[in-house]
Amino acid sequence: MNQIIPGLWEIDEIGDMVHCYVWEGPTGLTLIDTGMPSHVHTVMDTLTAKGYALHNVRRIIITHGDADHMGGAAKLKKATGAVVGCHSVEKVLLEDPGKRRPASLLFRPIFALMRLAPQFNTLPVTPDELYVDGQQTPEGFTVIHTPGHTPGHISLLHREKRVLIAGDALNNRGGKLQLPPPLFTPDMKNAERSVWKLAKKYGEDFDVIVFGHGPPILQNGGRKVQSLVTQIFSSEV
Ligand SMILES: [Zn+2]
Repeated sequence: MNQIIPGLWEIDEIGDMVHCYVWEGPTGLTLIDTGMPSHVHTVMDTLTAKGYALHNVRRIIITHGDADHMGGAAKLKKATGAVVGCHSVEKVLLEDPGKRRPASLLFRPIFALMRLAPQFNTLPVTPDELYVDGQQTPEGFTVIHTPGHTPGHISLLHREKRVLIAGDALNNRGGKLQLPPPLFTPDMKNAERSVWKLAKKYGEDFDVIVFGHGPPILQNGGRKVQSLVTQIFSSEV
């Protein structure tokens, strides 16, 4: 595991295609996203190799119901006994991952085919906790509803540690801070508004950002999101 800041690790053993994270607090571990369905054993092996028992995982927070983020959630829930949490709007996707739609109707058959491949075959999971915008979790995260990429997408802000777990509200592929890819983001207008919200409402509250895709930003994250927003909205007027 790769430590981002004390108490927050990326499970880099699953590779670079998607990132998932471990948070360690006084009451145990919290997983934030779980990687692809095929990553589930690597996630478990990594935790045990680091000396944790699987039951040390007390909560699994899913930023959104995509195969690369909730892929291992069902099996990990079973193996750890952890509670699973997501935004109340995202519940339908966790319980029926087949409901996920790409931006264009043209790609629906491709999505349907992809789900037949074992690495994308996501088992449904029933969330135990449903969050709303602004809610605090026991770990000290503020849940920020950041819809667009999916309707119930969330990002997590830890004000005390000044870190934002962005999920796919933003990505940093190739080290370039940007909006999520339009092909997989059915509501780009809302995705833009969500980034605006992160910048305007919370931009002073974090320095570090970790992403579902791309390397972390370790300094001045809030200011970088604010300048991205200026760029996005000034190009639209
Ligand atoms: Zn993703």
